[in-house]
Amino acid sequence: MRADAIRRVVIVGGGTAGWMAAAGIARVAGELPGLEIELVESDEIGTVGVGEATIPQIALFNAMLGIDEADFVRATNATYKLGIEFRDWTRLGHSYVHPFGFYGLDMKGVQFHHHWLKGRTLGDPTPLDAYSLAVVAGLRERFAHPRPDQPNSPLSKIGYAFQFDAGLYARYLRRLAEGWGVRRTEGRVVDVTRDGETGHVSAIVLQSGARVAGDLFVDCSGFRGLLIEGVMGAGFEDWSAWLPCDRALAVPCESGGDRRPLTRSTARPAGWQWRIPLQHRIGNGYVYSSAHVSDDEAAATLLANLDGAPLAEPKPLRFKAGHRRRAWIGNVVALGLAGGFLEPLESTSIHLVQSGIARLMTLFPARGFDQLEIDRFNAETVEEYVDIRDFLVLHYKATERDDSDFWNYCRTLAPPEGLAYKLAMFRRNGRIFREHDELFTETSWLSVMVGQGVEATGYHPVADLLSDEETLRRLHHIRDVVGQTADAMPTQDEYLRRIGCD
Ligand code: FAD
Repeated sequence: MRADAIRRVVIVGGGTAGWMAAAGIARVAGELPGLEIELVESDEIGTVGVGEATIPQIALFNAMLGIDEADFVRATNATYKLGIEFRDWTRLGHSYVHPFGFYGLDMKGVQFHHHWLKGRTLGDPTPLDAYSLAVVAGLRERFAHPRPDQPNSPLSKIGYAFQFDAGLYARYLRRLAEGWGVRRTEGRVVDVTRDGETGHVSAIVLQSGARVAGDLFVDCSGFRGLLIEGVMGAGFEDWSAWLPCDRALAVPCESGGDRRPLTRSTARPAGWQWRIPLQHRIGNGYVYSSAHVSDDEAAATLLANLDGAPLAEPKPLRFKAGHRRRAWIGNVVALGLAGGFLEPLESTSIHLVQSGIARLMTLFPARGFDQLEIDRFNAETVEEYVDIRDFLVLHYKATERDDSDFWNYCRTLAPPEGLAYKLAMFRRNGRIFREHDELFTETSWLSVMVGQGVEATGYHPVADLLSDEETLRRLHHIRDVVGQTADAMPTQDEYLRRIGCD
């Protein structure tokens, strides 16, 4: 054990971020001799209580923790998710799906979508959606796990994620973390003591008067950013000019409507409404801009658009799009809502927690706290936020909607530089580039660009190596195989029953 090793990690907050951090750190570093991990949470304050839709990377986190997937699905009332259906975003009455996985099949070394773009110039109207198994199966309420043993089937690489009860997930992680030796302390943090020389946090003080000392503090205290902002004064990079939604109302309702393994996002006059179907209920919420609609009107819109009876009063939430200028200062690292917020349009917040934990473990410090490593953590964090921001802004910017002040604002805003470049490249010849291993793949950018009506004026010249007839023949064949494969998949309900869910 090196002399300057971290001996005590204190996690402030027991929401999804806090328990993910506790379980993740305990799993990776918990066996280091002498390392203690303590999580402090306040029952009185509670958690944000939302955050139910995820992206496929969550499976990696769960696998890292050694979680059995079927057990997790049963314990968290989870459903499977093949993508997000966007309704009324491009124009009223229009819809498309952003799927996990991929479209069609690359041919002649050229990405599939160039052949699809060529097919369109030949008059083939088949929408891009028809070439994604995740979309076709999702719309037909079907689900199956990927079958890598069937390399010629579109099922070989289908992507999926989960929708789950956030409270049950936190409880699930808590059981694991406590099993790995994490100590939980209930209490409200009312004060903080700092080292006079380094400025590092040395201890947090609870209402009871108890003092919890540590070497490394992980701030998972939610929007308030108790340590990272309240003590370290990180500062906030405000992106609300690009992402003006600043409030949400969340309400669960009884199950009803379709049983698709898809999260749904329906654009509304001043924002959008989510629908996240779980096994036992549906999570709903209206994310809106308070400058464009009143809280009462937003509540009325939300409640008028549920598939079942509401199970609670709508819960109001306030936020600002953006991130802490530095997520790691001294011996304080912020994860989750304490680190920043990007609206849940693409279900990215839980992923940001996960990638923050991975980054922290990669750069796990010693008590000397190397500034070079801290700077690296902060730079990577900002880059990740910027990439996701640009992808979210695409949904708002590329719209034809002109039926409200909100949509007029979004449609005419100047996009961030990175997004402007991506739009220009796609419009030229359908070129899509994934920058520095960013979270969203070419499939994601393609689906939202096409779904939101961004037109490419050309396609890759090498697609012309296939004759026109051959292009159309292959496109139709792929479309048919996708449709047949979807039909052969069980419904999600059957699938859930097979693993013991009622
Ligand atoms: P919180 O849940 O707020 O937890 C904070 C913790 O800190 C609590 O335990 C609290 O008690 C504790 N605490 C605070 N102050 C003190 C104190 N003084 N003393 C002691 N303890 C304290 N993410 C997704 O990935 N998918 C989604 O679909 C999604 N939807 C969302 C919808 C909305 C409207 C919002 C606002 C967020 C959504 N998110 C979503 C984000 C997701 O909810 C959060 O990323 C996730 O829940 C993590 O929250 P957290 O743990 O950081 O904060």
